[in-house]
Amino acid sequence: MKIHEYQAKEILRKYNVPVPGGEMATTLEQADTAAKALFSAGNKVVVVKAQIHAGGRGKGGGVKVVKTLEDAQAASKAILGMQLVTHQTGPQGQKVQRLLIEEGSAIDRELYLGIVLDRASAKIVFMASQSGGMEIEEVAHATPELIYKEYIEPAIGFQPYQARKLAFKLGLKTTQINQAVAFMMGLYKAFVDTDSTLMEINPFITTKDDKLVALDCKINFDDNAMFRHKDLKELRDLAEEDPLEVEASKFALNYIKLDGSIACMVNGAGLAMATMDIIEYAGGKAANFLDVGGGANQEQIENAFGILLSDPNVKAIFINIFGGILRVDVLAQGVVNAAKKLNVQIPIILRLEGTNVEEGRKILADSGLNFQVGTTMKEAADLAVAAAKGGR
Ligand code: GDP
Ligand code: MN
Repeated sequence: MKIHEYQAKEILRKYNVPVPGGEMATTLEQADTAAKALFSAGNKVVVVKAQIHAGGRGKGGGVKVVKTLEDAQAASKAILGMQLVTHQTGPQGQKVQRLLIEEGSAIDRELYLGIVLDRASAKIVFMASQSGGMEIEEVAHATPELIYKEYIEPAIGFQPYQARKLAFKLGLKTTQINQAVAFMMGLYKAFVDTDSTLMEINPFITTKDDKLVALDCKINFDDNAMFRHKDLKELRDLAEEDPLEVEASKFALNYIKLDGSIACMVNGAGLAMATMDIIEYAGGKAANFLDVGGGANQEQIENAFGILLSDPNVKAIFINIFGGILRVDVLAQGVVNAAKKLNVQIPIILRLEGTNVEEGRKILADSGLNFQVGTTMKEAADLAVAAAKGGR
Protein backbone atom coordinates (compact mmCIF):
# COMPACT_ATOMS: atom_id res chain seq x y z
CA MET A 1 0.00 0.00 0.00
CA LYS A 2 1.28 3.43 -0.99
CA ILE A 3 0.77 6.69 0.84
CA HIS A 4 1.38 10.36 0.06
CA GLU A 5 4.50 12.31 0.95
CA TYR A 6 2.65 14.50 3.48
CA GLN A 7 1.35 11.38 5.26
CA ALA A 8 4.81 9.80 5.27
CA LYS A 9 6.25 12.98 6.78
CA GLU A 10 3.55 12.92 9.47
CA ILE A 11 4.81 9.45 10.43
CA LEU A 12 8.47 10.56 10.45
CA ARG A 13 7.57 13.45 12.73
CA LYS A 14 6.33 10.96 15.34
CA TYR A 15 9.77 9.33 15.31
CA ASN A 16 11.54 12.68 15.76
CA VAL A 17 12.90 12.61 12.23
CA PRO A 18 13.11 16.28 11.14
CA VAL A 19 10.82 17.22 8.26
CA PRO A 20 9.81 20.68 6.99
CA GLY A 21 6.62 22.14 8.44
CA GLY A 22 3.68 22.28 6.07
CA GLU A 23 0.00 21.73 5.36
CA MET A 24 -1.89 19.53 2.95
CA ALA A 25 -4.45 21.30 0.76
CA THR A 26 -7.20 20.00 -1.48
CA THR A 27 -8.47 23.41 -2.63
CA LEU A 28 -6.82 26.64 -3.78
CA GLU A 29 -8.29 28.42 -0.73
CA GLN A 30 -6.63 25.96 1.64
CA ALA A 31 -3.37 26.23 -0.29
CA ASP A 32 -3.55 30.00 -0.06
CA THR A 33 -4.22 29.97 3.69
CA ALA A 34 -1.30 27.59 4.23
CA ALA A 35 1.10 29.70 2.13
CA LYS A 36 0.02 32.90 3.91
CA ALA A 37 0.64 31.28 7.29
CA LEU A 38 4.13 30.17 6.28
CA PHE A 39 5.12 33.57 4.88
CA SER A 40 3.77 35.45 7.87
CA ALA A 41 5.66 33.08 10.20
CA GLY A 42 8.83 34.49 8.64
CA ASN A 43 9.63 31.95 5.93
CA LYS A 44 11.36 33.52 2.94
CA VAL A 45 10.77 30.50 0.73
CA VAL A 46 7.74 28.23 0.34
CA VAL A 47 7.45 25.03 -1.69
CA VAL A 48 4.27 23.91 -3.46
CA LYS A 49 4.32 20.17 -4.06
CA ALA A 50 1.94 17.91 -5.96
CA GLN A 51 0.85 14.91 -3.89
CA ILE A 52 0.48 11.84 -6.09
CA HIS A 53 1.52 8.23 -5.57
CA ALA A 54 4.48 8.55 -7.94
CA GLY A 55 7.96 9.98 -7.87
CA GLY A 56 9.74 12.21 -10.36
CA ARG A 57 7.36 15.08 -9.61
CA GLY A 58 10.15 17.67 -9.62
CA LYS A 59 11.10 16.94 -13.23
CA GLY A 60 7.47 16.76 -14.30
CA GLY A 61 6.68 20.26 -13.01
CA GLY A 62 4.96 19.14 -9.82
CA VAL A 63 7.31 20.89 -7.36
CA LYS A 64 7.68 24.69 -7.32
CA VAL A 65 9.92 26.72 -5.01
CA VAL A 66 8.47 30.25 -4.58
CA LYS A 67 9.36 33.46 -2.73
CA THR A 68 6.13 35.46 -2.78
CA LEU A 69 2.50 34.78 -1.99
CA GLU A 70 1.57 35.65 -5.59
CA ASP A 71 3.98 33.05 -6.92
CA ALA A 72 2.67 30.51 -4.41
CA GLN A 73 -0.87 31.15 -5.63
CA ALA A 74 0.22 30.82 -9.25
CA ALA A 75 2.08 27.57 -8.49
CA SER A 76 -0.91 26.07 -6.63
CA LYS A 77 -3.20 27.05 -9.48
CA ALA A 78 -0.88 25.47 -12.03
CA ILE A 79 -0.36 22.22 -10.12
CA LEU A 80 -3.72 21.44 -8.47
CA GLY A 81 -5.83 19.55 -10.98
CA MET A 82 -3.04 19.13 -13.50
CA GLN A 83 -2.41 15.79 -15.18
CA LEU A 84 1.12 15.28 -13.88
CA VAL A 85 3.28 13.07 -16.07
CA THR A 86 6.44 11.57 -14.56
CA HIS A 87 8.55 8.54 -15.43
CA GLN A 88 6.51 6.61 -12.84
CA THR A 89 2.97 7.58 -13.88
CA GLY A 90 3.03 6.35 -17.46
CA PRO A 91 2.23 8.65 -20.38
CA GLN A 92 -1.36 9.28 -19.25
CA GLY A 93 -0.11 10.90 -16.02
CA GLN A 94 -1.91 11.20 -12.71
CA LYS A 95 -4.37 13.92 -11.77
CA VAL A 96 -3.15 16.05 -8.86
CA GLN A 97 -5.88 16.25 -6.21
CA ARG A 98 -3.81 17.27 -3.21
CA LEU A 99 -1.00 19.71 -2.59
CA LEU A 100 1.58 19.99 0.16
CA ILE A 101 2.43 23.60 1.01
CA GLU A 102 5.69 23.51 2.87
CA GLU A 103 8.34 25.80 4.34
CA GLY A 104 11.34 26.05 2.04
CA SER A 105 14.75 24.75 3.04
CA ALA A 106 18.15 26.27 2.24
CA ILE A 107 19.78 23.19 0.74
CA ASP A 108 23.50 22.61 1.13
CA ARG A 109 23.76 18.98 -0.05
CA GLU A 110 21.18 16.54 -1.47
CA LEU A 111 21.86 13.01 -0.20
CA TYR A 112 19.89 9.78 -0.30
CA LEU A 113 18.64 7.31 2.33
CA GLY A 114 16.59 4.20 1.67
CA ILE A 115 15.41 1.14 3.57
CA VAL A 116 14.08 -1.89 1.72
CA LEU A 117 13.46 -5.53 2.28
CA ASP A 118 16.16 -7.39 0.33
CA ARG A 119 14.79 -10.73 -0.78
CA ALA A 120 18.15 -12.18 -1.83
CA SER A 121 19.67 -11.83 1.64
CA ALA A 122 16.31 -12.11 3.43
CA LYS A 123 17.25 -9.04 5.42
CA ILE A 124 16.34 -5.41 5.66
CA VAL A 125 19.01 -3.30 3.99
CA PHE A 126 19.75 0.32 4.83
CA MET A 127 21.15 2.29 1.88
CA ALA A 128 22.81 5.68 1.69
CA SER A 129 24.33 7.71 -1.11
CA GLN A 130 25.94 11.09 -1.59
CA SER A 131 24.22 11.37 -4.96
CA GLY A 132 20.70 12.15 -3.77
CA GLY A 133 18.16 14.30 -5.57
CA MET A 134 16.37 13.64 -8.77
CA GLU A 135 18.87 11.27 -10.44
CA ILE A 136 19.11 8.39 -7.94
CA GLU A 137 17.76 5.75 -10.36
CA GLU A 138 20.49 6.74 -12.80
CA VAL A 139 23.12 6.46 -10.03
CA ALA A 140 21.86 3.01 -9.03
CA HIS A 141 22.04 1.91 -12.65
CA ALA A 142 25.34 3.41 -13.78
CA THR A 143 27.41 3.56 -10.56
CA PRO A 144 25.88 1.16 -8.04
CA GLU A 145 29.11 1.31 -5.98
CA LEU A 146 28.10 4.84 -4.97
CA ILE A 147 25.20 3.42 -2.99
CA TYR A 148 26.41 2.19 0.39
CA LYS A 149 24.58 -0.64 2.10
CA GLU A 150 24.28 -2.03 5.59
CA TYR A 151 22.46 -5.34 5.96
CA ILE A 152 20.48 -5.66 9.17
CA GLU A 153 20.44 -8.81 11.26
CA PRO A 154 16.78 -9.47 12.03
CA ALA A 155 17.47 -10.69 15.55
CA ILE A 156 19.38 -7.61 16.70
CA GLY A 157 18.09 -4.86 14.44
CA PHE A 158 19.85 -1.82 13.02
CA GLN A 159 22.85 -0.93 15.20
CA PRO A 160 24.18 2.58 15.89
CA TYR A 161 27.64 1.57 14.58
CA GLN A 162 26.02 0.76 11.23
CA ALA A 163 24.35 4.17 11.16
CA ARG A 164 27.71 5.81 11.98
CA LYS A 165 29.37 3.89 9.14
CA LEU A 166 26.78 5.17 6.69
CA ALA A 167 26.99 8.70 8.11
CA PHE A 168 30.76 8.79 7.51
CA LYS A 169 30.35 7.40 4.00
CA LEU A 170 27.95 10.26 3.30
CA GLY A 171 30.84 12.62 4.05
CA LEU A 172 28.92 14.41 6.78
CA LYS A 173 30.67 16.87 9.05
CA THR A 174 31.74 15.52 12.46
CA THR A 175 29.17 17.84 14.05
CA GLN A 176 26.43 16.17 11.97
CA ILE A 177 27.27 12.53 12.71
CA ASN A 178 25.27 12.13 15.92
CA GLN A 179 22.32 13.92 14.35
CA ALA A 180 22.53 11.56 11.36
CA VAL A 181 22.66 8.49 13.60
CA ALA A 182 19.55 9.59 15.50
CA PHE A 183 17.89 10.35 12.15
CA MET A 184 18.63 6.90 10.72
CA MET A 185 17.69 5.05 13.92
CA GLY A 186 14.36 6.91 13.87
CA LEU A 187 13.75 5.91 10.26
CA TYR A 188 14.53 2.29 10.98
CA LYS A 189 12.17 2.23 13.95
CA ALA A 190 9.41 3.80 11.83
CA PHE A 191 10.07 1.22 9.09
CA VAL A 192 9.76 -1.74 11.45
CA ASP A 193 6.85 -0.38 13.52
CA THR A 194 4.75 0.32 10.43
CA ASP A 195 5.56 -2.95 8.62
CA SER A 196 6.95 -1.03 5.69
CA THR A 197 8.46 -2.66 2.63
CA LEU A 198 10.13 0.51 1.42
CA MET A 199 11.11 3.85 2.89
CA GLU A 200 13.04 6.42 0.88
CA ILE A 201 14.30 9.86 1.82
CA ASN A 202 15.32 11.51 -1.42
CA PRO A 203 16.66 14.03 -0.98
CA PHE A 204 17.97 13.70 2.55
CA ILE A 205 19.43 17.19 2.85
CA THR A 206 21.97 19.08 4.87
CA THR A 207 21.01 22.73 5.23
CA LYS A 208 23.22 25.81 5.10
CA ASP A 209 23.05 25.91 8.91
CA ASP A 210 24.18 22.26 9.13
CA LYS A 211 20.83 20.67 9.99
CA LEU A 212 19.62 17.37 8.53
CA VAL A 213 16.12 17.24 7.05
CA ALA A 214 13.96 14.70 5.19
CA LEU A 215 12.94 16.89 2.25
CA ASP A 216 10.99 14.15 0.52
CA CYS A 217 9.71 10.84 1.84
CA LYS A 218 8.17 7.82 0.24
CA ILE A 219 6.76 4.89 2.23
CA ASN A 220 5.14 1.66 1.06
CA PHE A 221 3.44 -0.64 3.55
CA ASP A 222 3.15 -4.40 3.42
CA ASP A 223 -0.49 -5.09 2.43
CA ASN A 224 -0.42 -8.39 4.28
CA ALA A 225 0.32 -6.62 7.56
CA MET A 226 -2.37 -3.95 7.27
CA PHE A 227 -4.82 -5.97 9.36
CA ARG A 228 -2.82 -4.96 12.42
CA HIS A 229 -2.56 -1.26 11.50
CA LYS A 230 -6.05 0.23 11.49
CA ASP A 231 -4.62 3.76 11.71
CA LEU A 232 -2.34 3.25 8.70
CA LYS A 233 -5.08 1.63 6.64
CA GLU A 234 -6.98 4.91 6.86
CA LEU A 235 -4.18 6.65 4.98
CA ARG A 236 -5.16 4.82 1.80
CA ASP A 237 -6.18 7.27 -0.94
CA LEU A 238 -8.45 5.40 -3.33
CA ALA A 239 -8.35 8.31 -5.81
CA GLU A 240 -4.74 7.34 -6.56
CA GLU A 241 -5.56 3.76 -7.46
CA ASP A 242 -7.02 2.19 -10.58
CA PRO A 243 -10.83 2.32 -10.07
CA LEU A 244 -11.33 -1.24 -11.34
CA GLU A 245 -8.70 -2.57 -8.96
CA VAL A 246 -10.37 -0.74 -6.08
CA GLU A 247 -13.71 -2.26 -7.08
CA ALA A 248 -12.16 -5.75 -7.31
CA SER A 249 -10.54 -5.45 -3.90
CA LYS A 250 -14.00 -4.92 -2.36
CA PHE A 251 -14.96 -8.40 -3.51
CA ALA A 252 -11.66 -10.00 -2.47
CA LEU A 253 -10.82 -10.65 -6.12
CA ASN A 254 -7.18 -10.66 -7.07
CA TYR A 255 -7.32 -8.32 -10.04
CA ILE A 256 -4.63 -6.35 -11.83
CA LYS A 257 -5.57 -4.31 -14.88
CA LEU A 258 -3.36 -4.67 -17.95
CA ASP A 259 -3.61 -3.08 -21.37
CA GLY A 260 -4.55 -5.96 -23.70
CA SER A 261 -7.96 -6.93 -25.12
CA ILE A 262 -8.55 -10.45 -23.78
CA ALA A 263 -10.05 -10.54 -20.31
CA CYS A 264 -9.08 -13.57 -18.24
CA MET A 265 -11.06 -15.25 -15.49
CA VAL A 266 -9.02 -17.95 -13.85
CA ASN A 267 -8.87 -19.82 -10.55
CA GLY A 268 -5.43 -19.88 -8.99
CA ALA A 269 -2.55 -17.46 -9.46
CA GLY A 270 -0.30 -20.00 -11.20
CA LEU A 271 -2.95 -20.89 -13.76
CA ALA A 272 -3.67 -17.17 -14.23
CA MET A 273 -0.01 -16.56 -15.11
CA ALA A 274 0.04 -19.56 -17.47
CA THR A 275 -3.13 -18.25 -19.11
CA MET A 276 -1.58 -14.86 -19.72
CA ASP A 277 1.47 -16.58 -21.22
CA ILE A 278 -0.54 -18.75 -23.57
CA ILE A 279 -2.61 -15.78 -24.76
CA GLU A 280 0.65 -13.99 -25.55
CA TYR A 281 1.92 -17.16 -27.27
CA ALA A 282 -1.24 -17.32 -29.38
CA GLY A 283 -0.61 -13.74 -30.51
CA GLY A 284 -2.95 -11.86 -28.19
CA LYS A 285 -2.64 -9.67 -25.13
CA ALA A 286 -4.27 -10.14 -21.74
CA ALA A 287 -6.48 -7.30 -20.49
CA ASN A 288 -5.97 -8.30 -16.88
CA PHE A 289 -4.78 -10.76 -14.33
CA LEU A 290 -7.73 -12.14 -12.40
CA ASP A 291 -7.67 -14.91 -9.85
CA VAL A 292 -11.20 -15.63 -8.62
CA GLY A 293 -9.78 -17.93 -5.98
CA GLY A 294 -10.38 -21.53 -5.11
CA GLY A 295 -13.77 -21.19 -3.49
CA ALA A 296 -15.45 -18.73 -5.85
CA ASN A 297 -19.25 -18.71 -5.69
CA GLN A 298 -22.00 -17.40 -7.92
CA GLU A 299 -21.72 -13.89 -6.55
CA GLN A 300 -17.94 -13.77 -6.99
CA ILE A 301 -18.28 -14.84 -10.60
CA GLU A 302 -20.87 -12.14 -11.25
CA ASN A 303 -18.66 -9.54 -9.59
CA ALA A 304 -15.72 -10.69 -11.65
CA PHE A 305 -17.76 -10.42 -14.86
CA GLY A 306 -18.86 -6.94 -13.93
CA ILE A 307 -15.28 -5.81 -13.50
CA LEU A 308 -14.05 -7.43 -16.71
CA LEU A 309 -16.90 -5.88 -18.68
CA SER A 310 -16.29 -2.38 -17.40
CA ASP A 311 -12.89 -2.32 -19.06
CA PRO A 312 -13.63 -0.77 -22.50
CA ASN A 313 -10.57 -2.47 -24.06
CA VAL A 314 -11.99 -5.95 -23.52
CA LYS A 315 -12.99 -7.69 -26.77
CA ALA A 316 -13.23 -11.29 -25.56
CA ILE A 317 -13.38 -13.15 -22.24
CA PHE A 318 -11.27 -16.25 -21.70
CA ILE A 319 -12.39 -18.37 -18.77
CA ASN A 320 -9.80 -20.95 -17.82
CA ILE A 321 -10.81 -23.06 -14.86
CA PHE A 322 -9.41 -26.15 -13.27
CA GLY A 323 -12.16 -27.44 -11.02
CA GLY A 324 -10.78 -28.58 -7.71
CA ILE A 325 -12.40 -27.01 -4.69
CA LEU A 326 -14.39 -24.91 -7.15
CA ARG A 327 -16.48 -27.46 -9.05
CA VAL A 328 -16.82 -26.97 -12.81
CA ASP A 329 -20.64 -27.30 -12.78
CA VAL A 330 -20.90 -24.54 -10.17
CA LEU A 331 -18.62 -22.34 -12.25
CA ALA A 332 -20.54 -23.08 -15.44
CA GLN A 333 -23.86 -22.26 -13.80
CA GLY A 334 -22.33 -19.07 -12.45
CA VAL A 335 -21.08 -18.07 -15.88
CA VAL A 336 -24.45 -18.77 -17.51
CA ASN A 337 -26.36 -16.81 -14.88
CA ALA A 338 -23.94 -13.90 -14.96
CA ALA A 339 -23.88 -13.78 -18.77
CA LYS A 340 -27.69 -13.71 -18.85
CA LYS A 341 -28.06 -11.22 -16.03
CA LEU A 342 -25.45 -8.82 -17.37
CA ASN A 343 -26.49 -9.44 -20.99
CA VAL A 344 -22.92 -10.08 -22.07
CA GLN A 345 -22.43 -9.40 -25.78
CA ILE A 346 -18.71 -10.12 -25.89
CA PRO A 347 -17.53 -13.58 -27.02
CA ILE A 348 -16.85 -15.91 -24.09
CA ILE A 349 -14.32 -18.70 -24.56
CA LEU A 350 -13.92 -21.39 -21.95
CA ARG A 351 -11.49 -24.14 -21.18
CA LEU A 352 -12.71 -26.33 -18.36
CA GLU A 353 -11.09 -29.27 -16.64
CA GLY A 354 -11.50 -31.04 -13.35
CA THR A 355 -14.28 -32.07 -10.98
CA ASN A 356 -17.72 -32.38 -12.63
CA VAL A 357 -16.40 -31.15 -15.96
CA GLU A 358 -19.02 -33.13 -17.97
CA GLU A 359 -21.90 -31.60 -16.00
CA GLY A 360 -20.30 -28.22 -16.53
CA ARG A 361 -20.05 -28.62 -20.28
CA LYS A 362 -23.68 -29.74 -20.43
CA ILE A 363 -24.84 -26.65 -18.54
CA LEU A 364 -23.04 -24.45 -21.07
CA ALA A 365 -24.42 -26.38 -24.07
CA ASP A 366 -27.99 -26.28 -22.72
CA SER A 367 -27.87 -22.60 -21.84
CA GLY A 368 -28.86 -21.34 -25.25
CA LEU A 369 -25.96 -18.91 -25.10
CA ASN A 370 -23.16 -18.85 -27.60
CA PHE A 371 -20.12 -20.02 -25.68
CA GLN A 372 -16.99 -21.31 -27.38
CA VAL A 373 -15.31 -24.18 -25.61
CA GLY A 374 -11.70 -25.19 -26.26
CA THR A 375 -10.61 -28.68 -25.34
CA THR A 376 -7.04 -27.66 -24.58
CA MET A 377 -5.58 -24.46 -23.22
CA LYS A 378 -3.89 -23.75 -26.55
CA GLU A 379 -7.06 -24.30 -28.56
CA ALA A 380 -9.03 -22.04 -26.23
CA ALA A 381 -6.33 -19.37 -26.38
CA ASP A 382 -6.41 -19.47 -30.20
CA LEU A 383 -10.20 -19.10 -30.12
CA ALA A 384 -9.93 -16.17 -27.72
CA VAL A 385 -7.33 -14.40 -29.86
CA ALA A 386 -9.45 -14.89 -33.00
CA ALA A 387 -12.57 -13.65 -31.19
CA ALA A 388 -10.78 -10.58 -29.88
CA LYS A 389 -9.58 -9.71 -33.39
CA GLY A 390 -13.14 -10.07 -34.67
CA GLY A 391 -14.16 -6.99 -32.69
CA ARG A 392 -16.79 -6.36 -30.07
P1 GDP B 1 10.30 14.18 -6.50
O1 GDP B 1 10.86 14.81 -7.73
O2 GDP B 1 8.94 13.61 -6.73
O3 GDP B 1 11.23 13.18 -5.90
O4 GDP B 1 10.09 15.39 -5.44
P2 GDP B 1 11.06 15.97 -4.30
O5 GDP B 1 10.26 16.23 -3.11
O6 GDP B 1 12.25 15.11 -4.10
O7 GDP B 1 11.51 17.37 -4.89
C1 GDP B 1 12.29 17.46 -6.07
C2 GDP B 1 13.39 18.48 -5.92
O8 GDP B 1 12.84 19.76 -5.60
C3 GDP B 1 14.38 18.22 -4.81
O9 GDP B 1 15.38 17.30 -5.18
C4 GDP B 1 14.94 19.62 -4.57
O10 GDP B 1 16.01 19.88 -5.45
C5 GDP B 1 13.78 20.54 -4.90
N1 GDP B 1 13.19 21.04 -3.64
C6 GDP B 1 12.20 20.47 -2.91
N2 GDP B 1 11.98 21.18 -1.79
C7 GDP B 1 12.86 22.22 -1.80
C8 GDP B 1 13.15 23.31 -0.89
O11 GDP B 1 12.57 23.44 0.19
N3 GDP B 1 14.13 24.17 -1.25
C9 GDP B 1 14.82 24.05 -2.42
N4 GDP B 1 15.74 24.92 -2.72
N5 GDP B 1 14.58 23.04 -3.29
C10 GDP B 1 13.62 22.14 -2.98
MN1 MN C 1 12.27 12.95 -4.20
